[in-house]
Amino acid sequence: MDFIDFMTISKAVQAQVAAESAASSADRAKSSVRGVADEVSDLRVQVDRLQMLCEGMWTLLKAKTDVSDADLAKLVEQIDLRDGKLDGRVAPKTGVTSCSSCGRTVSVRTGACLYCGTRNQTRDLF
Ligand SMILES: [Zn+2]
Repeated sequence: MDFIDFMTISKAVQAQVAAESAASSADRAKSSVRGVADEVSDLRVQVDRLQMLCEGMWTLLKAKTDVSDADLAKLVEQIDLRDGKLDGRVAPKTGVTSCSSCGRTVSVRTGACLYCGTRNQTRDLF
């Protein structure tokens, strides 16, 4: 085998390795996209179910009490404005507090202490 044959074969092998690597990357990307699509689909189903439950609870509440759609709309607007923006979104709860048992840092979102297992009371139900 002369030098030119060696270089030609070497380049062909390098091209084959690069092609296999690209195909492998593409397969991983496709798998990742399928996973995200499945997750979005699951979330859509959960949102639809929550919407139905919320509507059912509201319908029941209106039928059993004297609250109105205007009352609900006013409260929703007040909740929306808690973060200073009327944007139809609730600001995510962030921050930390101290565990009531061991004093270590605890997320206000979960209230669960990772160190001692205590379920700390969070500020509100939501
Ligand atoms: Zn603790």
